[in-house]
Amino acid sequence: MTMPTALSALPPVHEILQSPEGRDCTARHGHAASLACIREVLDECRQRLLAGAAGTGTRESAAGQIAGVALERLDQRHAPAMKRVLNMTGTVLHTNLGRALYAPRAVEAAMRAMTGPLALEYDLDAGRRGQRDDAVQALVAEITGAEAACIVNNNASAILLVLAALAAGRETIVSRGELIEIGGSFRMPQIMESAGTRLREVGTTNRTHLRDYESAIGPDTALLLKVHPSNYQVLGFTHETRCPELLPLARKHGLPLVDDLGSGVLVDLSRWGLPRERSVQDALAEGVDLVTFSGDKLLGGPQAGFIAGRRDLVEACARHPLKRALRLDKVRLAALEATLSLYRDPDRLAETLPTLRHLARRPDEMRAMAQAILPALAAALPASHAPGIAESQAQIGSGALPLETLPSLALRIPAPGASAERIARALRRLPLPVIGRIAEGAVWLDLRCLDDARALVEELPGLAALLDE
Ligand SMILES: *Cc1c(COP(=O)(O)O)cnc(C)c1O
Repeated sequence: MTMPTALSALPPVHEILQSPEGRDCTARHGHAASLACIREVLDECRQRLLAGAAGTGTRESAAGQIAGVALERLDQRHAPAMKRVLNMTGTVLHTNLGRALYAPRAVEAAMRAMTGPLALEYDLDAGRRGQRDDAVQALVAEITGAEAACIVNNNASAILLVLAALAAGRETIVSRGELIEIGGSFRMPQIMESAGTRLREVGTTNRTHLRDYESAIGPDTALLLKVHPSNYQVLGFTHETRCPELLPLARKHGLPLVDDLGSGVLVDLSRWGLPRERSVQDALAEGVDLVTFSGDKLLGGPQAGFIAGRRDLVEACARHPLKRALRLDKVRLAALEATLSLYRDPDRLAETLPTLRHLARRPDEMRAMAQAILPALAAALPASHAPGIAESQAQIGSGALPLETLPSLALRIPAPGASAERIARALRRLPLPVIGRIAEGAVWLDLRCLDDARALVEELPGLAALLDE
């Protein structure tokens, strides 16, 4: 900051507050915070003038300048930490960037739920208390054929609740190859321990046979659990005992078979040229007693966890005291109802559901965007990092079909060695941060999930200055 004025002409605090910038500052950040920050800036000016800095300008212009500096500082300090970003990682369901985006219809429903009372646990026909999960449960039943469903905070909660309600104090049988860890601190053995069920591992890492399950069943067995390996695959000499094979065994011993599906696909993705994944309907049609899955993965809704299947088992989960602790709030329930209702018109899902729109995005659309952005990107980078358009590999993310990649298109910025991180960092420091990916001596900006190409083009001129910092 250049010194706005001489020491003797420094304006008093109340004059600074009264300047147009000072009034802006108070309007945005309140009197107390503005006053404190103006005092801070004023004090810095005083110190620097005392140390011999040369001041210019009048007392009046100084008031505006000092308030302007305070306003900028407070804008920065009070900016939300959870900034909106541009996901150009090529991972559609990026857990660190918030997974699925709400469909416009879900946004409207969430907004209604946030801003007014709603019939959340209220039966409008009878005029008395109703059940919180009813609306969503009916939709899950309609779409998947499940007898009943129970909705909780996320899929981790769903598994926790199933095990607590159906297997506490007894044994749960799981294949050793399915004792997975999913990012952060979700580890299947630990969830089981928290639920109070004893883990009975069967088989080996790569091979688990029907006879392994059979010989593990005893008087203490409460249920058989299958877990979608989600984020890895065992290749080579492997054997998995699938649900249709396990079911007769479960039936013979009167044990529920529970399948943690992870992602929770409700439609056949192959109609959009995507790899086929076993759906919730597939699992229930096989006869699996209960399935659990997420709301914010391939389903494309808010964070949520589903327990769906046999009515008596779902009811046992819904009655357990943990259900209350894990229940969903009204905003997400409303968004979930709206999201699920989109599945009644599967023909238009790729337009109405952002997750599917991104997954199904066509190469020509991505190429047109890349061409629109390229000149601005090239102009913002030194000639040594001249960007180009390149084919890339996107992925679904969040553990869905981990080895399948989707052919995608990216802006590729050649950046050998340490320059890649320098460029990636400058991109992250743009007003609307751009999150790309570093690989093979380049920074890749994948176009599959970009919705606002114009916002990117408009902010790119600011990149050059950030690269020098
Ligand atoms: C993602 C996943 C979970 C955890 O689901 P959240 O909704 O993130 O709690 C559990 N099991 C499997 C198989 C998963 O893929």
